[in-house]
Amino acid sequence: MTGRQTLTGALAVDLGDGREIRHGQRAGHIHYTRQPRAVYTCLLCHQQEGPVTGAETVQRFVDSVRTIHAARCTAAAPTTERQAA
Ligand SMILES: [Zn+2]
Repeated sequence: MTGRQTLTGALAVDLGDGREIRHGQRAGHIHYTRQPRAVYTCLLCHQQEGPVTGAETVQRFVDSVRTIHAARCTAAAPTTERQAA
């Protein structure tokens, strides 16, 4: 068993609609009729990151959004932050 995990955010990914291009210079690429889309909702501060659209953008977003949000999450702000006296 690993350590206890806390659910801190919800990542929703819509893979979009598309089909593989079979011929021509872009063969093997996907032609999207509806672009992939992703949005992240933090369950601690209830802020959203995104939505972002586009296959590559969504991929980068999924890979990094938790780290990016953790850095600016107001609910998870470190207690070392100076507080008004
Ligand atoms: Zn947050």
